Amino acid sequence: MREELSRILRERYPLIFAVDLAVADTPDAMPSVFSLWGFECGDGWFDLIDVLSARLQLATRHGAPQVVVRQVKEKFGTLRFNASGADERQRGMIELAEMMSGRLCETCGNPGQTIEAGWMRTRCPVHGGKS
Ligand SMILES: [Zn+2]
Repeated sequence: MREELSRILRERYPLIFAVDLAVADTPDAMPSVFSLWGFECGDGWFDLIDVLSARLQLATRHGAPQVVVRQVKEKFGTLRFNASGADERQRGMIELAEMMSGRLCETCGNPGQTIEAGWMRTRCPVHGGKS
């Protein structure tokens, strides 16, 4: 994902997309994959991640746990949003977003399909998907 989009998500949801604070204090602690690699997916899923994060944080304001991301990546054509702290309702939100990513072009966010082209990916017709 482009740095400017990554920055928007980090600024809007600093508690979800926190860089591990423990790493600074304890030298032997392992930083999360997210701390090292950030958003490992295309720009097309920005809105999906934005809406998901807004709902997760809203739930926290109403008493749910604070979700902290461990890794965000594309795998087999769909979003993987690995996080700690989520309760059952928040896990449901994450699951829905991951499923929805299989219908949104990872490059541009337009409607798309998960296709097999050497590897699994989700693309609209303009970006190499089926028309
Ligand atoms: Zn596209």
